[in-house]
Amino acid sequence: MTPWRAAAPGELCTCGRQAREVFARSDGEEIGYCGVPDGGAKAGQCPFCGMRRHSPGPCPRYTLRLPEGAVKRDDSEPKGS
Ligand SMILES: [Zn+2]
Ligand SMILES: [Zn+2]
Repeated sequence: MTPWRAAAPGELCTCGRQAREVFARSDGEEIGYCGVPDGGAKAGQCPFCGMRRHSPGPCPRYTLRLPEGAVKRDDSEPKGS
């Protein structure tokens, strides 16, 4: 079973939209879901790292709430794929 709750304002889906529901993973991390299963594919850049969209799966920098201000540039992200 996956426990979930209604999302609060400011809590984000992995696609960057306002989340509608928030799921708690077994490791305690919370993941928002906006109800649209497209992963934000048409929404341009990844809202969390400012780079291209990730598919499949959320951004490695995904957080339920964005820190205040804009996306912070950080070049330490390992190159994947
Ligand atoms: Zn979404
Ligand atoms: Zn990203």
